[in-house]
Amino acid sequence: MTAIPRAFARLTLDFLLPLRCVSCTSTVGTPDSLCPDCWQKMSFMEKPWCERLGTPFSYDVGEGAWSPQAIASPPIFDRLRSVAFYDGPARDLVVALKFFRRRELARPMGLWMCRTGSEILREDSLIVPVPLHWMRLLSRRFNQSADLARVIARECGGQFEPGLLKRRKKTRRQVGLSAKARQKNVRSAFCIDPERIGQIQGRHVVLIDDVITTGSTIAVCSKTLLSAGAASVDVLTFAFADTSNRSGSASPDEP
Ligand SMILES: [Zn+2]
Repeated sequence: MTAIPRAFARLTLDFLLPLRCVSCTSTVGTPDSLCPDCWQKMSFMEKPWCERLGTPFSYDVGEGAWSPQAIASPPIFDRLRSVAFYDGPARDLVVALKFFRRRELARPMGLWMCRTGSEILREDSLIVPVPLHWMRLLSRRFNQSADLARVIARECGGQFEPGLLKRRKKTRRQVGLSAKARQKNVRSAFCIDPERIGQIQGRHVVLIDDVITTGSTIAVCSKTLLSAGAASVDVLTFAFADTSNRSGSASPDEP
């Protein structure tokens, strides 16, 4: 098709099927994008940030600095990177993907995660989604974290490994539970597929989830991967819920 008919076809298509903002119903000029209003409402996590937790600093304290939270309670994983705080359109996108099955959102969300996680994603990384229990997978029919991980591996390199980390017991929702109850809830909840344990030895793992809330699940997944022989674990999530009682630490009583 030559340029003029192609442009005409595009105009016709835009008229019939206008491109929509991925978060609201406003029309936008480019596919898989946010409208200016939603863009403004996104609380992006940007540099300067804590080297360990990816939480922004209000002023630049130099490359590699740790936040007081990371110093007080160092996470068991190496680095966490998240695209945005879990509010406004970022929260709407997480909810739409997970509960309203808008699986087409995994692509734009995954691409944003690629950009935010560029420092932690490597060609030889194992890209491992936080697994769902099979009963929840049966009712939801898909794992939103696996959808994101698939996009990230395809677009940024790395090896998509959806079956390596398994969930062996169904856990209650973590929100609202005390720190002790959360640890009890997720203890021994995850394991590595015994037939594939050799694949993880000495490898760099990037653990993928849609949102980090309390941090308990991510901490236990990281510990499971490291205990099985992973050389290092970094974490990449789309959203970051700013909770004061996060538990991503490697303290002795961590499950
Ligand atoms: Zn919008």
